[in-house]
Amino acid sequence: MSIKSLFIAVLAISFVQCKSVAQTTAVVETPAKESIHKFAPLPYSYDALEPYIDKMTMEIHYSRHHQAYYNNFMAAIKGTDLESTPMIDIFAQMSTHSVAIKNNGGGYWNHEFFWNVMIPGGASEPTGKLADAIKESFGSFEEFKKQFADAGAKRFGSGWAWLSVAQDGKLFISSTANQDNPLMNTETLRGTPVLAIDVWEHAYYLKYQNKRADYLAAFWNVVNWDVVNQNFEQAVR
Ligand code: MN
Repeated sequence: MSIKSLFIAVLAISFVQCKSVAQTTAVVETPAKESIHKFAPLPYSYDALEPYIDKMTMEIHYSRHHQAYYNNFMAAIKGTDLESTPMIDIFAQMSTHSVAIKNNGGGYWNHEFFWNVMIPGGASEPTGKLADAIKESFGSFEEFKKQFADAGAKRFGSGWAWLSVAQDGKLFISSTANQDNPLMNTETLRGTPVLAIDVWEHAYYLKYQNKRADYLAAFWNVVNWDVVNQNFEQAVR
């Protein structure tokens, strides 16, 4: 064997050894445990709900407010079992967790729920079992809309209005403060949400300024009744 070929052979062996060490290291390394809580894409474009909800509001609301709630929530639960605990279970034990987890976990979940109950060009009214349940609980769809909008209009400061299903399967309307929601065990009126509207000023101020009632009235043009129907059917199953 010439010196040159010996040299090449040694180089080749070293390379194989390095490579195998690198591969072993990669296999042994424990991957970081991933949280089950994901930041989902907005289900439509920022301008999709125009003219009822304007593009700039949607962009800031989703990419800054919602994203901040998510980031802060992830930071608050980092390294804990809550990274792999479903939101519904976290909310059921809300009173045992920190204010940071309540505010940011609520902000994260509430907004994702809110994006999904809206759609451009959706049906104007609910159908099927939900339509029947609304008539049974509120007398008529018009009366339901009035009571739901009232709940949003009367919420002092920041919060949400909700249509939810109670333990007994009946619909009820409620309003929560801050980023609280009816799934939290800290709420007096508890249930499974089927429809919600965000009445924080950041949700409407750029277009509607102080006219929250106009924003509440416009909301009916963008409700995704197919999703609300599904939410109801899952809640009463
Ligand atoms: Mn909001």
